[in-house]
Amino acid sequence: MAEQVHPTMLVWVAILAAVELVPPPAWGGPGLSVAFAVQVAVAMLYPPAAAGAVAFFGAVQLRGRRPLAAAWWDHSQALVVTAAGSGVFHALASVHDPWRRLLPGYGAAAALMWLAGAAGTVLRTRTPLREALARMNAASPYRFPATFPGMGWFGLPAARLYLAEGLWPVVILLGLLVYARTTCLKAWHQRGELAALLEREQRAAAELRRLDQAKGQFVAVAAHEVRTPLTAILGYVAILRRWPANDPVTTDRYLGIVERQANRLLGLADSLLTAARLEHGGLAAVFRWTSVEEVCKEVVEGLGDDRARVRLDLAPDLPPVSTDGRCLGQVLGNLLDNALKYSPPPDPCELGVRQEADQLVCWVRDQGAGIPRPELDRIFDRFYQVDGSDSRPAAGVGLGLSLVRELVDALGGTISVDSQLGRGSRFTVTLPIRSPTRAEGGDALRRGR
Ligand code: ADP
Repeated sequence: MAEQVHPTMLVWVAILAAVELVPPPAWGGPGLSVAFAVQVAVAMLYPPAAAGAVAFFGAVQLRGRRPLAAAWWDHSQALVVTAAGSGVFHALASVHDPWRRLLPGYGAAAALMWLAGAAGTVLRTRTPLREALARMNAASPYRFPATFPGMGWFGLPAARLYLAEGLWPVVILLGLLVYARTTCLKAWHQRGELAALLEREQRAAAELRRLDQAKGQFVAVAAHEVRTPLTAILGYVAILRRWPANDPVTTDRYLGIVERQANRLLGLADSLLTAARLEHGGLAAVFRWTSVEEVCKEVVEGLGDDRARVRLDLAPDLPPVSTDGRCLGQVLGNLLDNALKYSPPPDPCELGVRQEADQLVCWVRDQGAGIPRPELDRIFDRFYQVDGSDSRPAAGVGLGLSLVRELVDALGGTISVDSQLGRGSRFTVTLPIRSPTRAEGGDALRRGR
């Protein structure tokens, strides 16, 4: 019977080639194992040699540039797989047989062809058989019918339809199959995209919730931070008003306290202002050739009584740096403030600078409480405090380090921290000596978000 249809082999070569050449979906995935259904139909219609020949010539692949050896491999693999399937099928049944004979024949042929295809992949890519089978179906959204064996089932009606009705019904069947499979894959792809979108949305919502909580906590901490110095200022002003005849030494001491507390408020207002400017892209860093030595000395001077605890370790002959001295001063000032705040007097803190190749390395070291390792990633987050309780010993609203990181970023540098619990912390800022993207002499860098 198979011999009668030999002249139509060219038609099947054309069908197979057409299915192979259907452009793959833009979103990836093979979408084309419909070719397997055609190979099964060919295996049922033709004896092994003829079926192998049809498969060999029909296995054209224009997708991607296949090296000649790989293309030969593909063609030969199609030949062997289809010829083997045809051999098994014709040993058990004929395409005209009733279904009870046809089905076992088809089942054995399709299973053999599927396994032979996988074995070809194993031989070519040296992957284990299980993995090769999984990979053949990996792009299939549904276990059935889009998998290889699932697609093979369509070879059965295609072969019978061809014998009964001729070419066009087969073309329509296979066309519908390509369309259905493409649609399936597209739906699957969109499902994946939607899931990814949903996940992104959920992550954004969680982040917003976290920020909302942090802001709520910030308001409480900030209110506390404003209240404490204000209470002290009002208290000492009241004392000075009530007992103005106090001796000058005591008056001076009280005024000193009032001044310190007012400065604390001023520092808080400055931090909030800088944070707001950074947030809205309103901070302009002005790059000029700057003496880091001078910046460091000014920062230490500004520390008041605490400056006695700071040891300066500046390498000799430090070069001038193209940077914004004001921002750098704020960075080092904040780091030193923390070092002094989180290490008990009279322990010394260190501010050091040295040159390393075309970079300047600045560090602030203390011998204080240190920071627990799991917190190291979070201390640079805005409003984050390791101890956020009202009873924490040190003042602050959790803004200092986030400002430091953003300012260092604006200066084109990096910051890192090393800390050991109970032994102290070391913050290291690395700055480019000459920032290639910024001209010296005053170009303004606007930071937008
Ligand atoms: P704060 O206003 O609370 O000091 P920062 O942003 O400056 O906020 O610091 C965040 C947290 O990092 C602080 O609450 C503190 O727990 C921890 N921290 C910062 N610097 C040090 C340091 N030198 N030693 C120990 N802990 C520190």
